[in-house]
Amino acid sequence: MTKTVTGIVDACLVDGMDYGETSEHQMIRDTVREIAADYDWGYWKDCIENKTFPEEYWQDLAADGWLGVTIPEEYGGVGMGMVEMSIVIEELSRGGGQGGIIFVLTPVFGGISIERHGSPEQKEEFLPRIASGDMKFSMGLTEAAAGTNTLNIDTTAEKDGDEFVINGQKMWISGVENADEMLLVTRTSEPKPEDPAYGVTLFLVPDPSEQDGIELTPLDVEVPWFETQYQVDMNNLRVPEDRILGAEDGGLYLLWDTLNTERIAGAASGVGGGLRAIDLAVDYANERSVFDQKIGAHQAIQHPIADAYADLMCAREMTYKASWKWDNGEDCGMEANVAKLRASEAATEAGDVAIQTHGGNGFTSDYEVYDIWQNSRLLETVPVTNEMVRNYIGEHALGMPKSY
Ligand SMILES: Cc1cc2nc3c(=O)[nH]c(=O)nc-3n(C[C@H](O)[C@H](O)[C@H](O)COP(=O)(O)OP(=O)(O)OC[C@H]3O[C@@H](n4cnc5c(N)ncnc54)[C@H](O)[C@@H]3O)c2cc1C
Repeated sequence: MTKTVTGIVDACLVDGMDYGETSEHQMIRDTVREIAADYDWGYWKDCIENKTFPEEYWQDLAADGWLGVTIPEEYGGVGMGMVEMSIVIEELSRGGGQGGIIFVLTPVFGGISIERHGSPEQKEEFLPRIASGDMKFSMGLTEAAAGTNTLNIDTTAEKDGDEFVINGQKMWISGVENADEMLLVTRTSEPKPEDPAYGVTLFLVPDPSEQDGIELTPLDVEVPWFETQYQVDMNNLRVPEDRILGAEDGGLYLLWDTLNTERIAGAASGVGGGLRAIDLAVDYANERSVFDQKIGAHQAIQHPIADAYADLMCAREMTYKASWKWDNGEDCGMEANVAKLRASEAATEAGDVAIQTHGGNGFTSDYEVYDIWQNSRLLETVPVTNEMVRNYIGEHALGMPKSY
């Protein structure tokens, strides 16, 4: 019953058509695709089942410079932009497993936040280690009463000499067991009536799984990831003042800045994961015969695949437009949100179509498509829900009333 998935089929390649894509971009795609091809579904399944970090994969990406794709050369990176990061994430996701989404915690939340908002000392300390594959991040924002409503966080940080004492609880925090640092979002002051975002401070917490002031409780989350999600309880956790990222009380402004790149990275991973589902569906449809005919010959099979592919292509255009605007210093909030919305839904559609194409095999773990669907579906909720994205579009593009 086990069948080897043949993977990427040439018929689905549409390279050279992306927003502003150059021959250098094409070279990045080819190189990254080769790395991804070395890590098959069996490798990812093993990492997911045993909850182990894909260290060889990570080190391969580091050795080729991809973990430092946006990190300036003076800090050991390759100094490229978000367009290149999106290409890397798309191609790695298209290679399968958690290949692309793995970028969100470290190169995006760690790398981009510190690159843009870190002190010179923090840049020296963290960026070379991120680029070299020596440092991994986790990100502690969500709380039981503050998921969609970020402003509601009540993990507090109080100044005590040259340290801060942190108390509170975070929920759903991914990958703390692998992290060398946690970007932790705390409240240091009450919000101002005229500025509800005021009063939030970001800390870089070293070795979060080994801190005396942190207790980790694993959560039972049904997603095919190698990381575990945790409830993180902080009891008098002491963090030195120089581990504040950005300004005290000004953390939310810089977090919002980074969140656009998180949405772009999520969109790129949705596009890549969705294309992976299409690749597998096309492969299967062209091989599987029922009633003495390849199932791909039936329009009932072919057209839904074509629809999902078309939707992914549209999402892909918006992803690269958002990336390009970010790189050119333009406001990309709308494009980043639209890209995340369309990519997550198109990827779910592609996963769903791929499952249907695979018949009963679509529900087995020998075939990758059910996992792709779960990951795509997750992207509709995480890191930001699609309802909040639609709220953003309604309010900021269409001038409609804010509902909350
Ligand atoms: C696998 C996984 C990994 C995660 N990893 C991390 C991590 O590493 N770090 C981290 O900080 N967080 C993480 N999260 C948390 C994630 O970001 C939140 O679950 C997400 O932001 C939604 O928050 P919530 O669960 O509190 O939903 P809620 O805020 O309770 O929302 C519930 C529903 O109500 C809807 N809703 C709420 N308000 C409105 C409104 N005004 N208009 C329309 N709809 C509305 C929401 O869209 C959603 O559908 C993770 C979650 C999962 C499942």
